Amino acid sequence: SGYHRVLEENRKLYNQVQDLKGSIRVYCRVRPFLSERSSYVSTVEHIEDGNITISTPSKYGKGCKSFTFNKVFGQSVTQAEVFSDMQPLIRSVLDGYNVCIFAYGQTGSGKTYTMVGPKDLTEKNQGVNYRALGDLFVLAEKRKDNFRYDVAVQMIEIYNEQVRDLLVIDGSNKRYPSVHLILFLTSNTLEIHNSSQTGLNVPDASLMPVSSTSDVIDLMNLGQRNRAVGATALNDRSSRSHSCLTVHVQGKDLTSGTILRGCMHLVDLAGSERVNKSEVTGGRLKEAQHINKSLSALGDVIASLAQKNTHVPYRNSKLTQLLQDSLGGQAKTLMFVHISPEPDALAETISTLKFAERVATVELGAAQVNK
Ligand code: ADP
Repeated sequence: SGYHRVLEENRKLYNQVQDLKGSIRVYCRVRPFLSERSSYVSTVEHIEDGNITISTPSKYGKGCKSFTFNKVFGQSVTQAEVFSDMQPLIRSVLDGYNVCIFAYGQTGSGKTYTMVGPKDLTEKNQGVNYRALGDLFVLAEKRKDNFRYDVAVQMIEIYNEQVRDLLVIDGSNKRYPSVHLILFLTSNTLEIHNSSQTGLNVPDASLMPVSSTSDVIDLMNLGQRNRAVGATALNDRSSRSHSCLTVHVQGKDLTSGTILRGCMHLVDLAGSERVNKSEVTGGRLKEAQHINKSLSALGDVIASLAQKNTHVPYRNSKLTQLLQDSLGGQAKTLMFVHISPEPDALAETISTLKFAERVATVELGAAQVNK
């Protein structure tokens, strides 16, 4: 039909421009119904290639809205399929580029599922974080005749505009004392600057060297435990904080001696739901304001990058400061937007997709090229 042709043309144009620019890609993922609510009717009307159509019933009758992204993953898409074409991104980290992968969406829409996995984690349902690091080590191993790679990770949480180190000794504020020493002992080439030239200065966040996927799994488990410790004071704080696993990679070209540095931020953002200000006060209101501020700061940074503004407002939030070296310039960014299929999530679903489309269409508008 004409409608589908227009959608198809939009999608082609969008992908062409994305290929030209190649810097920000947007993937949309729909969570399956949770078992207890399987009798609900999905608000997702149709998914085809990069298009998703949401039905928006109103008292005036049935309506629908369509959105276009690089990819749309329906409810039955597996973790492996979601990750299947991410190898080029991982490779570019080893080539010395900065990469940022982040998960956006309302609480309960599947952000943690995509980045980490479900509670009963198995190899099959592992999320992007594990797979990205797994691939990183596999690729590094393949290049071992020509490159020597050192990898180290940091894991932090941003809550109410404060940065917390998650790789501390179980639950305490004590850091592993010899982290920096370990780095220099294990590698005489690794000189990772925690306070990267441009990004957020996290000099105190532990930087842990890793040499295998199992090292990473241990550290991620520690980080998750530490995150939970913070959550006892305020129930379910994790949905109201951003968590970020940062992987620093340094490669030495064994023939030329050239050093390449790349880094990858894997970010599970705070829930994007708008909190009705009349319903919350005190601590909850402050949290909501901080979340709104950092997510809109993120949107502003992306918009301003796409418009090629000379001034990009990185400094407006801790989140955008942290990601500064991984958003814009030569960096490659992938945003996963998540939606829930339930009718009672409809308002958030539409506002999430609009935010994501703003990220996407600003790109389109800015390119304005007929090449
Ligand atoms: P968020 O991080 O956005 O708050 P979660 O990742 O915790 O949301 O997901 C909410 C619930 O839905 C969890 O129980 C999770 O395991 C489940 N879930 C989310 N996405 C999927 C998926 N693609 N397949 C199966 N279960 C999922």
